[in-house]
Amino acid sequence: SAGPADMDPKTWAKVKDHPCYSEEAHHYFARMHVAVAPACNIQCNYCNRKYDCANESRPGVVSERLTPEQAARKVLAVAAEVPQLSVLGIAGPGDAAYDWRRTKATFDLVSEQLPDIKLCLSSNGLALPDHIDEIVEMNIDHVTITISAIYPEIGARIYPWIFYQGKRRTGLEAATILRDRQLQALEMLTERDVLVKVNSVLIPGINDDHMVEVNKAVKERGAFLHNIMPLISDPAHGTHFGLTGQRGPTAAELKKVQDDCGDGANLMRHCRQCRADAVGLLGEDRGQEFTLDKLPEVIE
Ligand code: SF4
Ligand code: SF4
Repeated sequence: SAGPADMDPKTWAKVKDHPCYSEEAHHYFARMHVAVAPACNIQCNYCNRKYDCANESRPGVVSERLTPEQAARKVLAVAAEVPQLSVLGIAGPGDAAYDWRRTKATFDLVSEQLPDIKLCLSSNGLALPDHIDEIVEMNIDHVTITISAIYPEIGARIYPWIFYQGKRRTGLEAATILRDRQLQALEMLTERDVLVKVNSVLIPGINDDHMVEVNKAVKERGAFLHNIMPLISDPAHGTHFGLTGQRGPTAAELKKVQDDCGDGANLMRHCRQCRADAVGLLGEDRGQEFTLDKLPEVIE
């Protein structure tokens, strides 16, 4: 297939077997996430640290946290049972780039055994610029960065603090550093031919009027897809700071923002906001079949 009208053929060739990026592939290829990265270096107002990273997953979900060795065992067990497995992602439960040692160890262990599996990771972007060379060396072919604001005035309403270079920073300073690092990572990765998808969490009254600018900024810097995701509000999830009681967008509000971004905006419309330990074809989750207690001790 020629792929979506707004994607260039070179990019399409790289993503056509990826269940998340190709509407067609998601019927034939499976992906799995392993939750090996619990630490995070920023605070999002809508995050509850007891649950998975809300930039990538639905709220209220607690994934089984694994060590890199446990995760590698699990991937091998899944690969033996699910022949369509083509992609391994690390999307939390915290930040895969900040918790880099565990992310890297997991990918290294798995690639030794399954050299053809495609690797991807998700991050808020703050730590990403420090790992570009390794990401390229390790053949990680997709990175997702969550960028929900370009203007620090808006970012400061979403992120109460970040932890950067050994110090906690707040307000406009935090939002500016985070924005600069996110855009820098996007540019550096694109330059090295790593595909970058951008997630934005759509928060009514905070960044909805701003999303067209976010779309423009990330497209200009080479993001191949922009995934505008609704904030899914949950009392247990979004009770921090100024966003207490913050509602998520209605389906009509989400669609309006996506439409405002226009044709050719490379919007992704079928992301399922999967769990950090999802397993299987998109739209199904066989994660419960592969919990740690069900894995063999040793895999041949
Ligand atoms: Fe929570 Fe993810 Fe934000 Fe970190 S980046 S605070 S884990 S939602
Ligand atoms: Fe794909 Fe979205 Fe699920 Fe990630 S969260 S595996 S991008 S559908």
